[in-house]
Amino acid sequence: MRSVAVLGASGRMGRLVLAEVLDSNDLTLAAAVGRMGSPTIGVDAGILAGRQECGLSVIPLGPGAFAGADVVIDFSLPEGLLAALPFLGDAALVSGTTGLDPIVDAALTERAAVAPVLTAANFSTGVNLLLDLVARAARALPGHDIEIVEVHHRHKRDAPSGTALALGRSAADARDAALDQVAVHGRIGNIGARSQGEIGIHAVRSGGVVGDHSVTLGAAGETLELRHSAISRSVFAQGAITAARWLSGRAPGRYDMKQVLGIG
Ligand code: NAD
Repeated sequence: MRSVAVLGASGRMGRLVLAEVLDSNDLTLAAAVGRMGSPTIGVDAGILAGRQECGLSVIPLGPGAFAGADVVIDFSLPEGLLAALPFLGDAALVSGTTGLDPIVDAALTERAAVAPVLTAANFSTGVNLLLDLVARAARALPGHDIEIVEVHHRHKRDAPSGTALALGRSAADARDAALDQVAVHGRIGNIGARSQGEIGIHAVRSGGVVGDHSVTLGAAGETLELRHSAISRSVFAQGAITAARWLSGRAPGRYDMKQVLGIG
C-alpha cells in the first residue's frame, strides 16, 4: 500500500484526486492539505470528495503536513507548491499546478536532487499523445503556419494554459526554435502580415469548459487541425494517480508524463 497526500485538497482537482485515492485498493490517504485559513480546514476529506467520512480532516499547509506520505499529489497554485517544498520530507512529488515561473521551476529542480519530481501541465493520455503528434506535424510541415487555441472555464487564473505552452514548445522544439522567440500571444491592431515561423497562441475563457486545445497547421491550400477536448476533470485526476503509482520508489530526478505513458 502506498500512501498519498493531496495538496490543494479543497480545490476542483484536489477533491477528485481525494476521491480516486479513497476509491482505490492499493493507495491510502496520508493527508489532505489545504490553504491556511481555508473554510474547508477541519472538514472530513471523504465528505469533500463526495464519499463517506474517512476520518482524516483537511489540515493547513505547515511542518509535518505530509508526514508518512510516499507521494504528494499537488493541484494548487504556484505559491502553494513553492511553500510546500520544505515540508515534503522524503516523499515523491507529482505536480499538476500550472503557471509555474522560473523561480518555482528552479526550486523543483533543486528538490529533484533529493527525491523524484514529476510535473505535467496535463495528465490526460490524449494530450500527451497530442504533444508528440504536434512535434511530428511541425517537423513534417516546416512551412505551415502554427496557431494554438485553448479554451478553459471562467475560473482559470493563468493564461495561456500550461498545456498550450507545452504544445507550443513541442512545435518549436521540432523546428529547432525557442518558443519564447517565436510565440505571438493574441493579435491586435495594424500589425502587418504574419511572419514565417511564428507560433500564435490564443486563450479563450468561457463558462465551464474543462479544457479544449487545438493546433492548426495552415498553408495556402490546406489546413490540418489536431484537437483535444477534455470532457471530464476526472481524466486529469486519474492520470495523476497513474503518475503517482509510477513515480513512487524511483530515483531522485525530474520526470514527465510521456515517460509514464511510454509516449515519444
Ligand atoms: P482550484 O482553485 O479549484 O484549487 C486550488 C486549490 O489550491 C484551492 O483549494 C486552494 O485553496 C489551494 N491552495 C492555494 N494556495 C495554497 C497554499 N498556499 N497552500 C495550500 N493550498 C493552497 O484550482 P483547480 O482547478 O483545482 O486547479 C489547480 C491547479 O491545477 C491549477 O494550476 C490548474 O491550472 C491546474 N490543473 C492542472 C491539470 C493537469 O492535468 N496538470 C488539470 C487541471 C488543472
